[in-house]
Amino acid sequence: MKVLVINSGSSSIKYRLYDESNPTPLVRGAVSRIGQTGSTLDYTSYAEHQCLSVAAPTHEAGLRLLVDSLLDERLGVVRDVREIGAVGHRAVHGGSAFRGSVLIDDAVIRKMEECVPLAPLHNPPNLVGIRAARKILPHAEQVAVFDTAFHSTMPAKAFLYALPYEYYERYGIRRYGFHGTSYRYVLARSCEILRCKPSDVRMIVAHLGNGSSMVAIDQGRSIDTSMGLTPLEGLMMGSRSGDIDPGVIFHLRRELGMGVDQIDELLNTKSGLLGVSGVSNDVRDLVEGVAAGNERCAIALDMFAYRAKKYIGAYAAALGGLDVMVFTGGIGENSALVREMICADLGFLGLELDEDRNTSTVGAEGTISADSSRVRILVVPTDEEWMIMQDTLAIVRSAAHEPKGYAHARIA
Ligand code: ADP
Repeated sequence: MKVLVINSGSSSIKYRLYDESNPTPLVRGAVSRIGQTGSTLDYTSYAEHQCLSVAAPTHEAGLRLLVDSLLDERLGVVRDVREIGAVGHRAVHGGSAFRGSVLIDDAVIRKMEECVPLAPLHNPPNLVGIRAARKILPHAEQVAVFDTAFHSTMPAKAFLYALPYEYYERYGIRRYGFHGTSYRYVLARSCEILRCKPSDVRMIVAHLGNGSSMVAIDQGRSIDTSMGLTPLEGLMMGSRSGDIDPGVIFHLRRELGMGVDQIDELLNTKSGLLGVSGVSNDVRDLVEGVAAGNERCAIALDMFAYRAKKYIGAYAAALGGLDVMVFTGGIGENSALVREMICADLGFLGLELDEDRNTSTVGAEGTISADSSRVRILVVPTDEEWMIMQDTLAIVRSAAHEPKGYAHARIA
């Protein structure tokens, strides 16, 4: 069976087509600038790379183009559309309703619609992608894989805000956490590398990318994570502030007269590495800035590493000790400098980097701790799409063995 994995965002559909059991996708790419001028279809297979100008006024049109390209006589890798037996959808916010991946039917779509207020920017385009895929590939099973699901094991003391309890009960205002699909992949892969069972390790994973978060994993379960109701809480990020005193928001409103949308934009798109440096949200640009003597680039990087370090301390305490620390995401996988800054002086917690291993591990899997380090420190490039593909296949297979109406295997 072939499985199409889709990440449907506000103006793009990123996709990969897999043949089951092969982690290298047959085709990967994106339809970009949907609903705008200059839409493109990016298509990379083992034999071809194409970036075509297309007309994609809607997600449905974009998805149709992409399926046509998969079937194309010259470009394509699929002869009959029925070879695509399943579609795995990345879904951002599953609220409290979804504790694992799920086969999509009308009831699931209704529940996902109920989660829209929790992620008004992300969930609607996810739903648009699901509706389009059901229409264009009606024979294929559709599966939703939620970024929040992995964190459904967090205990109340970690997921509640210290607000009046009814705000949780009545409005669902609590911490949910994100990057769960990435964490599940990294956990499984790390355990393969270490030849251990998830139940045997206390692990912290730092997913450091443009969006950054951290998770504390005990016996294979998320017990705390740094993002909250939204992806704004926690670590400093490319352009998001991460943790701030909520009082800052009232101050911006009352003293500077800023509106709610303006503050939202400030904290989500103008803060973090970009806001502090005034130069860029990209670590590579900041490193260049530091080399050129730009002090604000240096402060931004220092803050980024310092805040990550504080979370490691907090999560080591929450776990009652630490066995494995893993770095992933664009920064975690590629920036030896940031990893070094984060791990510096954490010897008291048992983290000791090996300088050579660290600097030579860029964009690749590897151990970067010294042999004497009590905590094993790893770099594991994440692969969320492969995780979505595996969930999709597992759910479709188990659904095939269940009577109709019971085909809701949930993969936690
Ligand atoms: P997203 O959260 O959008 O998925 P990624 O995980 O792709 O982000 O991370 C993107 C970030 O990774 C870039 O903004 C940059 O800061 C960082 N990055 C990527 N490559 C490198 C590199 N070679 N060296 C340092 N940082 C890098």
